[in-house]
This record gives sequence, C-alpha cells and structure tokens, in this order.
Amino acid sequence: MKLLNFTEGKNAKRKLNEDIIQLVSCPANGNVCSQNLVEINRLLSTAQQSRFSKEYGRSIYKMQKALAIADGIQTERCANCAVLFRNTILSSMDNVKEELEEMSKGLFSTRYRESFKQVSTLVQELKQV
Ligand SMILES: [Zn+2]
Repeated sequence: MKLLNFTEGKNAKRKLNEDIIQLVSCPANGNVCSQNLVEINRLLSTAQQSRFSKEYGRSIYKMQKALAIADGIQTERCANCAVLFRNTILSSMDNVKEELEEMSKGLFSTRYRESFKQVSTLVQELKQV
C-alpha cells in the first residue's frame, strides 16, 4: 500500500498558487471586481492550504464562500470577470474532487468519503447552471 504523496503523480504538476486568479482584462479596469477578487483569492489560498493539510471539509467550505462572492458580482461590465472567477473556483473544486476520489479508495477511505460525496454533489450542481 503506497501512501498518497503530493510530490508524485498528477498532483505534483499543480503548484500552490496555481488556483489564484489574476485579473487579465476587465472592462472596468478592476474598479468593481478587484475588491471581490482580493477576497476570492484569499479564500482560495486558504482552501489550498486546507487541501494540502487534508482538511477537505474546510477546503470545500472556503471554496463555496469564494463562489458566493463570484456569484455576487452583479455589475454588467464585470460579467466576464465573474465567469472567469467562477470557472477557476469550479476547476479548483474539480481538483479536490479528483483528489478525494483517490483518497476515498485508500487506507483512510472512510475519513474522506463524506467530503468526496459533498464535493461531487456540489460540482455536479454547479456544472448544471
Ligand atoms: Zn471586472
């Protein structure tokens, strides 16, 4: 039985800051959304840290909060910014889901099964929107 290790396998390709969003082009020059983005990135970075310490429940919770902020951007000029934020958070959730899928097959499977179910449902729902 090999323990899952973040320095090997497909997870190794992902760096800690990969999920942090950068504002590339915003029609409002970030006037509206940059404040939201600061908050989203803060949450995503906490989510990443929780993920690395295998506190998946907390990680998922932080990503949900980030998503709520992205969905709260109602400014029309920042509609594309909101979509970019949302998609990044969603792919972040997808990664956690993938990771948990492997974890839930492993030695400590029961510990991760609940989180896996939770994030699976979440991702499924979000992709339907
Ligand atoms: Zn914007």
